Amino acid sequence: MPVHLGQNVTNEVRVRIAPSPTGTLHVGTARTALYNYLYAKRHHGKFIFRLEDTDEVRSKDEHTADLIEGLHWLGLTWDEGPDIGGPFAPYKQTEKVAHYREIADSLVASGKAYLAYETVEELAEIKGDTADGHSRYDNRGRNYTAEQLEKFRAENRLPSIRFRIDEPRTVTWNDAIKGPISIDTSTLGGDMVIVKSNGVAIYNFAVVVDDVDMEITQVIRGEDHVNNTAKQILIYEALGHTVPEFGHVPLMNDIEHKKLSKRRHGESVHVGSYKNKGYMPEAIVNYLAQMSWTPADDREIFSLAEASEIFDLGKISKSPAVFDTQKLDWFNGHYIRSLPLDVITERSKAFIDASKLHEYSDTQLKELIGSVRENLTKLSDVSEHVDFYFGDTLTIPEDIQASVLNSDSAKQVLNKALHSVGTMPWGDNKGCKAIVDSIGKELKIKGKDLYWPLRAALSGKTHGPDLGLMLSVLGEKRVKARLESALGLCRSC
Ligand code: GLU
Repeated sequence: MPVHLGQNVTNEVRVRIAPSPTGTLHVGTARTALYNYLYAKRHHGKFIFRLEDTDEVRSKDEHTADLIEGLHWLGLTWDEGPDIGGPFAPYKQTEKVAHYREIADSLVASGKAYLAYETVEELAEIKGDTADGHSRYDNRGRNYTAEQLEKFRAENRLPSIRFRIDEPRTVTWNDAIKGPISIDTSTLGGDMVIVKSNGVAIYNFAVVVDDVDMEITQVIRGEDHVNNTAKQILIYEALGHTVPEFGHVPLMNDIEHKKLSKRRHGESVHVGSYKNKGYMPEAIVNYLAQMSWTPADDREIFSLAEASEIFDLGKISKSPAVFDTQKLDWFNGHYIRSLPLDVITERSKAFIDASKLHEYSDTQLKELIGSVRENLTKLSDVSEHVDFYFGDTLTIPEDIQASVLNSDSAKQVLNKALHSVGTMPWGDNKGCKAIVDSIGKELKIKGKDLYWPLRAALSGKTHGPDLGLMLSVLGEKRVKARLESALGLCRSC
């Protein structure tokens, strides 16, 4: 048996998400993280979270916190990382600066990379704009003489390290999503910087070192990285490492087919904004998952766990995805209606004025939320729907007063209801409704003429949750106060 040498001798699937903490968690990054997570679960492998935090100026701790919180909120927990007690922390590139440098030096020693001494001004002159719109380095650093190098050193110039990109050559790979891809190395911009003159490794280099170190088997990331992949394959070769499988996920556009970006779309690309507005993480996960991937059985609604069993990278669409908030709202409404009422009640609490919550027990809150959840698209809508339940009295809008309370029958109904308060079986929705119906029978008033004055008095609206439930949840004190106050309005009208 030949000994299996090289990366990942166990053949375990190992994938990762590697965002930079230069911004908050973008919905596109969340979808890529999700596809990586699903791929890992489907193949009983590991999902890793690594922070590409080498940009000292733009990396921010609050962005790191947001990325972590967002991924946790979506349920995309990772399987490895520094142990900080509780969930793992992410791996960080800043902890490996010396390691990248060491590997880059080994490439210099083997002639696959070299020290390049051009100043920023010289580089600007060299690059210019080429006919195809791509600026490129003219590889002059390959040919400096010993004297020239000596002169640069004497001037105390700090070199960057450039990796040699041979041209002409075609780099090819069979992309797990896009199929065969070929990139001509002459389109890659010339020999590339892998370590800047300040000693910081460039993304295309650090990412390869990390993916090798972490024994990554599949690199699943956004389509915007296709050209980077060609560069990275050249680095894998130079380092003598097995190239992982690559899968490039299509970009995400808005409904007008414009790329989703923070600049153009503001907070609506930020996963945390959906949390703040009362979206269900289950809905976001389902929506993002089905955006570019359709399960073999065409089902549209599925949980993270269900998707983990059937996810197929090869079935990801090649065409751009469309982020459509109306469609997301449809998914969210579905989950608000179908998740256990306990869960929805607990999550709704964050959207109800905390100073009011004590008015009801948890069981009553559950009924109260249950009575309105059909109408909710997101939980931030909950307060406008349940607001009338709180407080002894409420303000009845003038148009409702005029159209509903301004009649003799309304006065009769409210009077009779007020006298029946003592007989209401509080806590029994059907029993309360039965009392209302018996009032109607006795007064020979039915339909709108019976129900609307009561609804107006109790909720300030003519439509809403089941009347029996409203009475039963509101309870004796509130019902009495509200009927009295509505009757007061009746008398004056
Ligand atoms: N920081 C890069 C990004 O978020 C990582 C790309 C990769 O996965 O290699 O786009």
